[in-house]
Amino acid sequence: MTATKVALVGIGKIARDQHIPALAASDAYQLAATVSRSGGTEGVENYDTVEALLAARPDISAISFCTPPQVRYAGARAALDAGRHVMLEKPPGASLSEVHALEALAQDKGLTLFATWHSRHAASVPAAKAWLSDKTVKSVRIDWKEDVRVWHPGQQWIWEAGGLGIFDPTINAFSILTEILPVEVHVTGAELHFPSNCETPIAGEIRMDGPDGPLVTADVDFLWEGDALWRLIVETDGGTLTLNHGGAIMEIDSGAEHSTGREEPGIHGEYDGLYARFADLLDTNTSEVDLRPMVLVADAFTLGKRLDAPEFFDTTLTED
Ligand code: NAP
Repeated sequence: MTATKVALVGIGKIARDQHIPALAASDAYQLAATVSRSGGTEGVENYDTVEALLAARPDISAISFCTPPQVRYAGARAALDAGRHVMLEKPPGASLSEVHALEALAQDKGLTLFATWHSRHAASVPAAKAWLSDKTVKSVRIDWKEDVRVWHPGQQWIWEAGGLGIFDPTINAFSILTEILPVEVHVTGAELHFPSNCETPIAGEIRMDGPDGPLVTADVDFLWEGDALWRLIVETDGGTLTLNHGGAIMEIDSGAEHSTGREEPGIHGEYDGLYARFADLLDTNTSEVDLRPMVLVADAFTLGKRLDAPEFFDTTLTED
């Protein structure tokens, strides 16, 4: 098997924590170059811009974007225009229309576009989907709460328009929700709490209906202290399913049914799954672009009432 040569664009937290180790662990890929404003990673050729990479390295057939959503579109478009396959971090862009445009371009060019949702590759998500497939869902409660200062220190882009604020992690919950539920849901209302010095919300409550009326409530918070709470509780006619630790642990009626044995908060094995899926898509020359999680977030912004919250200062930017 010839390894696919991949370039990574944007060498920040997720590139270093997950993408580089997942690529190193896979025989299917070779990390052939980076595009980074800050030098990239040791031992890998680096370019200052996507355009420079595309001009210099026609041998690199796939480009994986780990930049913030607000700055992803131009590079992804240039990569597809130059005939390269593209993988996008979540959320796949700053707006739905730009991702639609990329999807159409990939289709025109016969290239793979993979809009990733890493949480769908958490260990218990497939088991939860299978268990729910023959149940009637009565209610869903989502709690997605973490301390932004622990999980996103110094990431100013999260507080700028297009950075999503609390919806940056909440979209992971919505990616699991849309994957496991046997019915479709749509947002009916929300309250969103905006710090007066930020362009994006820091907390919120979101409501969704299913086909027969109210079904989902989500309580999301970026100022949660202590262990992160990333949990969905689904009540059904056949019992209650709890998916905890961001999809790693599944319980039915409070008895552990399926567990990875990795109970500490964080991402475990999800990026190995993402790159394996990307390899399948490349092999079959297909794309995967499911925008349902992003539609729910966009609708929460459309329907949400804006409530004032105290100013937020990222103390990690000022502390030693
Ligand atoms: P990050 O630490 O801020 O890294 C983003 C990198 O993108 C920067 O280090 C920078 O790398 C590059 N970049 C290019 N233009 C930029 C700009 N205008 N502003 C800021 N950075 C710019 O962010 P991250 O946590 O890795 O998140 C990146 C994406 O991955 C987001 O969409 C996020 O939702 C997603 N994600 C993050 C996590 C997580 O745990 N943090 C988990 C899953 C998914 P260079 O210096 O190399 O240019």
